[in-house]
Amino acid sequence: MPDFDVVVIGAGSAGSVAASVLSTQTNVSVCLIEAGPDYGPFEAGRWPSEILDPRLRPRTHDWGFVDSRAKVVGGCSAHNQCAAVWGLPEDYDLWGGAGNLGWSYKEISKLIQEIERCSVDSLTEWRGKDGWLPTRHYRDEELASWQLAFLESTVSMGYSRIADLSAPQPGEGVMPFHANVYKSTRWNAAFAFLDRARGRRNLTVLPNTLAEKLLFEHKNARTLVCQSGSDTLEIRARQFVICAGAYSSPGILMRSGIGPRTELERLGIRIQRDLLGVGKNLQDHSVVSVEFELSEHGLRALEQDVVEGSFHESQVILRARSVHCKGPFDLHLAPYQTTADSGEYVSAVLACDMVPQSRGSIHLSGTDAELPPSIDFGFLTDPLHQDASVLIDGLRLIHRLAESGPLATMIESRTPRPDAMKPGESYSYVESHVDGYAHPVGTCRMGQLSDSLAVVDSGGLVRGTSNVYVADASIIPTIPRANTNLTCMLIGLKIAKELSIRLLRS
Ligand SMILES: Cc1cc2nc3c(=O)[nH]c(=O)nc-3n(C[C@H](O)[C@H](O)[C@H](O)COP(=O)(O)OP(=O)(O)OC[C@H]3O[C@@H](n4cnc5c(N)ncnc54)[C@H](O)[C@@H]3O)c2cc1C
Repeated sequence: MPDFDVVVIGAGSAGSVAASVLSTQTNVSVCLIEAGPDYGPFEAGRWPSEILDPRLRPRTHDWGFVDSRAKVVGGCSAHNQCAAVWGLPEDYDLWGGAGNLGWSYKEISKLIQEIERCSVDSLTEWRGKDGWLPTRHYRDEELASWQLAFLESTVSMGYSRIADLSAPQPGEGVMPFHANVYKSTRWNAAFAFLDRARGRRNLTVLPNTLAEKLLFEHKNARTLVCQSGSDTLEIRARQFVICAGAYSSPGILMRSGIGPRTELERLGIRIQRDLLGVGKNLQDHSVVSVEFELSEHGLRALEQDVVEGSFHESQVILRARSVHCKGPFDLHLAPYQTTADSGEYVSAVLACDMVPQSRGSIHLSGTDAELPPSIDFGFLTDPLHQDASVLIDGLRLIHRLAESGPLATMIESRTPRPDAMKPGESYSYVESHVDGYAHPVGTCRMGQLSDSLAVVDSGGLVRGTSNVYVADASIIPTIPRANTNLTCMLIGLKIAKELSIRLLRS
């Protein structure tokens, strides 16, 4: 194995962008390590159909953690529902306001232009138009029946249709979302960004290679130890950029000796840097759902969607305000239909708390890199119980929606019935059914030196190291009020651009 200038670990939403930028904007040698397989450029035609089909979430290429995570080049962008939504300007201003230089909305908005290429007919001032990731919003005539019925029921309840879920105003409203769907394909980060760099001689992609840990010489990491089949590889480089996602990036740091002293000592890992924040500050939008038994009419509509190929799991989002809301909105409500393991269709509406107050954590289950992390989501642990209250309000809203407009005609019965619940029962329901929106972030948070839980600085550099960066969902200090894919791509772009400039100067 030759030495490299830069090793990027993880070819997901952020890592695909980071490797592409480092390769195309410099002449330094870049090695991209990915635990899952690589099917080559989109045009090669070797990608499995379930990864390409944007209508259904793939069940293959998963890490098998307690939460779904993709193990394939493209990462979770190759697995997700393709909702392309930016955080609100205030969300990024919160990061900038916490002392993270360069992260205010004004500063990142030019990077939005470099990420997204929104189709002309659905472009708004809150979207990019010159980037590499094609997006457009679903048209009404493309909507599956359940999605359309939800949309029309929200309108019949008085919600207005809005033009962009990335726009800060109006806070409330509904729309078929913008999606990174192009050529009827889930256009993942590898197609949008990595394919541009694949022919370049300075880029090496190593799939099916599990990054275990970094070995240090003083402040510098020098070697990445990986497993490839039954072989152990030692890859030497000048710079390391960890993009393994919010569940795995803290694990790589901890196995390398960077993390909370007590946790590392418990596992007998030699300490390089005592960094309390590694694995802390886990955030996801918490979710509860209501499942519906369909009426004859609902069943017929579903069958017709399946036969016609118009069945989609998710296409529409309503932004709404709970009674606790202090900003423009604090809830996403989303109609969702999928197949259960039994093969039966499940029809549901999700209520998602977009301003979660609770925090969880990630821990190593052992020193073996093959072991899944131990994930404590921490849902509903906020001391004022605000998250539970928001979700209970979301349940009530779902109940009202289910009685309005076309949705009512598609439903036979529902579980639970929030209207029939005694005081305390709705809390018990939320407590026993709470889940995540698949948007974990924050486990290597970015912050100033004075922030005791900060793991990286505003350039992604891990505190106390001189050449180890984290650039993915992990560095997000507070979760934006949006689905997280686009923001992760932007993080990969920003940190890789800044590193490229430093490499060109050195
Ligand atoms: C089912 C699902 C639906 C979602 N829907 C949406 C949506 O509609 N819209 C939206 O905006 N967001 C959505 N998200 C969230 C979004 O996709 C993620 O926030 C985003 O992809 C995270 O990017 P990342 O780069 O941080 O991590 P990832 O994309 O997860 O990339 C991490 C990569 O690192 C690799 N890796 C991990 N550990 C190692 C290791 N030790 N060695 C080598 N490689 C490693 C992984 O295999 C993976 O390829 C969804 C997520 C899921 C799972």
